[in-house]
Amino acid sequence: MMKHLDNLEFWFLTGSQDLYGEEPLRQVAADAQKIVDALNSSKTLPFKLVCKPVQKAAAQIRATIQQAGSDDTCGGVVCWMHTFSPSKMWINGLSVLSKPLLQLHTQFNERIPFDTIDMDFMNLNQSAHGDREFGHITARMDLPRTVITGHWSHEETQVRIASWMRSAAGIAESRDMVIARFGDNMRDVAVTDGDKVEAMIKLGWSVPYYGIGDLVAYCNNVAQSDIDSLIDEYREHYDFKFSVSEAVFLQQTKEQARIELALQSFLGDVGARAFCTNFQDLHGMKQLPGLAAQRMMEKGYGFAGEGDWKTAAMVRLFKVMGAGLTGGASFMEDYTYHMQRGAMLDLGAHMLEVCPSIAKEKPTLEVHPLGIGDREDPARLVFDGRPGQALCAAIVDMGNRFRIVVSEVEAVEAPEAFKRLPVARILWKPLPDLVTASEAWILAGGGHHTAYTDSFGVEFVRTFAEMVNIECVVIGQETNIPQFRNELRWNAAAYR
Ligand code: MN
Repeated sequence: MMKHLDNLEFWFLTGSQDLYGEEPLRQVAADAQKIVDALNSSKTLPFKLVCKPVQKAAAQIRATIQQAGSDDTCGGVVCWMHTFSPSKMWINGLSVLSKPLLQLHTQFNERIPFDTIDMDFMNLNQSAHGDREFGHITARMDLPRTVITGHWSHEETQVRIASWMRSAAGIAESRDMVIARFGDNMRDVAVTDGDKVEAMIKLGWSVPYYGIGDLVAYCNNVAQSDIDSLIDEYREHYDFKFSVSEAVFLQQTKEQARIELALQSFLGDVGARAFCTNFQDLHGMKQLPGLAAQRMMEKGYGFAGEGDWKTAAMVRLFKVMGAGLTGGASFMEDYTYHMQRGAMLDLGAHMLEVCPSIAKEKPTLEVHPLGIGDREDPARLVFDGRPGQALCAAIVDMGNRFRIVVSEVEAVEAPEAFKRLPVARILWKPLPDLVTASEAWILAGGGHHTAYTDSFGVEFVRTFAEMVNIECVVIGQETNIPQFRNELRWNAAAYR
């Protein structure tokens, strides 16, 4: 599912100028290569860093940045000024920059060599002021950018570069993402709707509509033998729990297997890596996709219910940004609260569709009636979510712009067992507490559907938002309501 991003690489551009003569420039090139080699062999970076020739003149810089833009394998550029590199040389290049930019503010040497330092050393190792010159021009041009200060050999620096790369991988994914929409937004729901043209302009998302009949045709073409082998796969991964007869259980589960296989081929054929469904638009479908949607998410697809294409896209982005990390990502909904004084919790769940990548233990596969949708009882995976640090994020359309709202949460063990709840669920304490967090969320207009992940922290989302110049508000430990209201007001002016 992430294969198309396997070849993604990032370009390392070292700035200098030809003022210094050949010998120092040879040294600059050698040092840059050494840094890149060390970063690549650190195993901390999720993608390869490629050392480009030292950039020393305007025409060369423009050509390099143009190439970065037209090369699909280039996920972003990392710029570092080993020496001084006058920034007027960079303007023409930076004006055509179309990939995420990281200014890595580092220097070759970790320490000042007090015994030996002389003016030759000073001329060669000028990042402290060379990078400020570069920072000035990116600030003046108001370019989307990230700045990371730290010595390149330090793990904390490498970890931050790695997380920037992951946000940039989200951009690479976003730029050609197709979100297949079966049915329109549900009924009169406001927050799940939005401007799909603006989403394409700002984020690259394409959200084509497909009639559910298009999927039904694929369902009818699924081979029985493929369904049978998928049932064997379910048996390996999940515990079967019969609350109906085994015959009915298998019949209903096979229908979900059929839908999963149909979705897999359909999305493959239309090039979609995310999709959304609508439980009131199921003509010809025997069941609402339950287990099938959960399985697709587990395989890395983005998903959301009720026509919510924005959340489906966010779930897919979280899968991409967290690929290879521990943890998971899922479609989520704030369902109901535990409002016990001093121990308030939010119960996240959905009718059926929560991704097993966030399960604490092996899920059980169960068949139960579903009150809405007017279809057969669907099979679904039931489990408790994994405790630990996590986040929920929603992207909402404010009419004149998109806003991403992020809430830091701490998933917890359920204080008591859920004895009758027939869906996957997870309990969390939002930071700083349910009262503050939910008030802030509601003031920010965040939706009831979110993308949930315990793979990474809010910095990933914030950086992604910076890269596409979208407003992002974070609700966390430091949030207080008066300050948060002011932030929303200031943002309204800034993003107008
Ligand atoms: Mn919902």
